[in-house]
Amino acid sequence: MIMFPTGLLSLALWLTLTGSTLAVVQSESPPVKYPLKVGVVGSPPFSSYTNQTFKGISVELWQELAANTNLKYQFIAQPGVKTGINRVTSGELDVLIGPISITAARFKRVTFTQPYFKAQIGLLVSGESPSVWNRIKPLFQVAVISSVGGLFVILFIVGNLIWIAESRRNEEQFPKSYFRGVGNGIWFALVTLTTVGYGDKAPVTKTGKAVTSIWMLITMVAASSLTAGIATVMTLLLSQDHTEQFTQLQDLQGKQIAVVTGTTGAEWAKNYQARLLESPNLEGAIERLKSGKAKGVMFDVPALKYYLYQHPDAAFRIANLSISLEDYGFVLPLNSQLVREINLALIQLKESGRVEEIIEREIQGVSQE
Ligand code: GLU
Repeated sequence: MIMFPTGLLSLALWLTLTGSTLAVVQSESPPVKYPLKVGVVGSPPFSSYTNQTFKGISVELWQELAANTNLKYQFIAQPGVKTGINRVTSGELDVLIGPISITAARFKRVTFTQPYFKAQIGLLVSGESPSVWNRIKPLFQVAVISSVGGLFVILFIVGNLIWIAESRRNEEQFPKSYFRGVGNGIWFALVTLTTVGYGDKAPVTKTGKAVTSIWMLITMVAASSLTAGIATVMTLLLSQDHTEQFTQLQDLQGKQIAVVTGTTGAEWAKNYQARLLESPNLEGAIERLKSGKAKGVMFDVPALKYYLYQHPDAAFRIANLSISLEDYGFVLPLNSQLVREINLALIQLKESGRVEEIIEREIQGVSQE
């Protein structure tokens, strides 16, 4: 048998005892006090607080869930997700509800319920649909104008050359009078250029034929590059991409992007090295876009779509960028005794189709993707 010196033995005993006491303290959370303090955070259509009333998908979902489980609670409006989560960790709040994205960083500090919604993070940009002028503007670019101008100059030169070569021996087709003669020369050059070749005018002199031959060879190349040029311009005209600022995530780098403080949208904008313009709420962020200070607002797509739906005249649209797909859940303290009960009630609501119903009713008409 191994003999421990008594001092060592009592130390080991003490360590074991204190260790287990600590473990008990850690796994035990303070008893839940009713009514529960339920923080409400986020933007419509998930949550809103106006005229002393709480509304939105998250609010309704909680109300139904609490009714089904006989939970007594009181709502307390919260200024932002970050503050709300901090108040859950400090014990000021028992629950935080709203469109709260489940992220690893948050998961380390709090418990999340089962997810009840999936949302994209997107970028709201000013999107005045291009005016007629904006669409045909490419036609008036220097390059286009100068090549059309260049074409006229060349036609004029060739017209003159043909006239010089032909007017003496072929007066019928290319009269001696300068204007009529050169006019016919230009017409002949144009008919040849377009490969229409009416044959109403044709050179008879050697020089005339030589000029025409060279012109025919040149126009073969010129006509095909002209066609290619027109095709390019038309492609530009028909696509809106020439006005699109954000076609890929790298385009965000260094751009002024409005975000709501403490949201996942702000995190993503930071990740893509945008220059953040922070606001306490979505309205504030959208103001920044309106005033032109920001190039976009990075936020949850359902809330952005809801804003567009409520402001049909707003000249904004959601850029075609895929940033992240996030799950929404409610927040409880770590080791909360309510997790199982709330999760069970939430899953029951999901299974019965109630969650879907609430969502559909609240965002009726707002297109969902
Ligand atoms: N889903 C966002 C987040 O958790 C918040 C959205 C909102 O505030 O409406 O950061």
